[in-house]
Amino acid sequence: MNSPHAAALAALLGDSARVLTNPATVEQLSRDFYWYSPVLRRQLDGKVGDLVIQPTSAAEVQAILRYCHAHDVPVTARGAGTGNYGQAVPLHRGVVLDLARMDRIEQITPDGVAVCEPGLRLGALENEARKVGWELRCYPSTIIKASVGGFLGGGSGGIGSVAHGNLRDYQTVRALEVVTMEPEPRIVLHEGEAVHDILHAWGTNGIVTRIWLALAPAVEWAQCAVAFDTFDAAFDFSEAVAKDTAWTKRLVTPFEWPIPSFLTPVLQYAPHGKALIFFLIAENQCAKLEAAARAQGGEVTYSGKYLGLRTRPLLSDYTWNHTTLWAMRCDEAYTYLQCAFDPDRVRDQMRKLKDRFGNEILFHMEFWKAGDGRMIPGAIPVVYYTTEERLNEMICYCREIGVFVANPHVNNVEGGGRYRPDNVQLLAKERYDPKGLLNPGKMVTFKPREFAR
Ligand code: FAD
Repeated sequence: MNSPHAAALAALLGDSARVLTNPATVEQLSRDFYWYSPVLRRQLDGKVGDLVIQPTSAAEVQAILRYCHAHDVPVTARGAGTGNYGQAVPLHRGVVLDLARMDRIEQITPDGVAVCEPGLRLGALENEARKVGWELRCYPSTIIKASVGGFLGGGSGGIGSVAHGNLRDYQTVRALEVVTMEPEPRIVLHEGEAVHDILHAWGTNGIVTRIWLALAPAVEWAQCAVAFDTFDAAFDFSEAVAKDTAWTKRLVTPFEWPIPSFLTPVLQYAPHGKALIFFLIAENQCAKLEAAARAQGGEVTYSGKYLGLRTRPLLSDYTWNHTTLWAMRCDEAYTYLQCAFDPDRVRDQMRKLKDRFGNEILFHMEFWKAGDGRMIPGAIPVVYYTTEERLNEMICYCREIGVFVANPHVNNVEGGGRYRPDNVQLLAKERYDPKGLLNPGKMVTFKPREFAR
């Protein structure tokens, strides 16, 4: 970016300290965790913005977008940069809009709705909510670092989804305000079903500046690790706990061996050669869960009260997409997929994948409750990467046998498999960003020139 933009934007904010142009800083704030994917690594290495700007209010976001619209400058929103698909990596340079300083909690209402700004870290919200008897319904394993806005923009679900569904289910996101990319940027309220216009659109159709997020009543949790001789036995027990509504749970994560051997800080809970399950379970049900596990042939290798996000061991640090990170630390050739198995055919689907790919695919399951109430055996399997062709063969085969794959090796909203068939996200982009300046290149069905005509 040439200096006139930097100087003009600094003048707009009246604060040059919030316009960052140091190349190392700009590079750092242009990256996310796309390097999880060997495919995206090749595509996205070296992509950077021209400068980073840090607004502190929706009015400042409006002023920045007004300027960028007038000067045709691309804008890529950034929360904490923990996304996995290069969602926050600017493909066409321009401004990185770092929302970390918009991190206020306006209120937590008596009926459990947090009203907050997008840069607020999920961990900070969880801690504040628990003080008044509430907690997050679901959160990614990156909770300490990830922002609420980034979770809405690019995340899906996580710890808690086994009980409360994913972020887009059960009206967890009650409402949001979004700033548009127009000659005169507006602040538009999306409520109810209309939140889906913006959710998981990767910041391509508006900048979220205010969020109403429904919480759940806080529970006293315990953590528990159980080993089984076989993955089949671990899966059976996990599925039974996940499905039975009598259990109050936040996490049910079975791993196939050798995945437990990758979780180096908690190896003492992972007997050699065995499958392992990590649970977050209501403290008052923990002893009962342990007894049930033993009755099914399980060995309880760890059990203790959950004492908060900064305490150790924190079993959630090894679940959801943290599992992949631990695998990659052991061998860089590991990568991952994001799958949803069919609850009625899951055992047959897993067997077919094993028959065809052997230990190229290692099962790491994460249960979540779907919007229709069914318990989905989701999975973030660890995959041994050899070539892109082989990876695509695995994805195709999954789909052939009825396993849904949200492909984490593509860098656009549609390819990731979470695009809405009713096109509401695209329609919002046409309304709110007709020039296509918001995170350009990430919503590939949007055609700025055609639309302009
Ligand atoms: P960013 O990466 O900064 O942004 C994500 C997307 O949202 C980008 O496209 C960005 O442009 C857009 N965006 C950011 N702020 C705004 C805004 N205010 N308005 C509009 N768009 C915006 N994800 C899960 O869902 N579940 C998991 O369990 C999970 N585990 C993970 C584990 C690891 C180790 C890693 C590296 C990632 C994991 N992720 C997971 C992905 C990621 O952590 C989450 O999606 C997280 O919520 C992203 O938050 P962020 O603040 O880092 O967002």
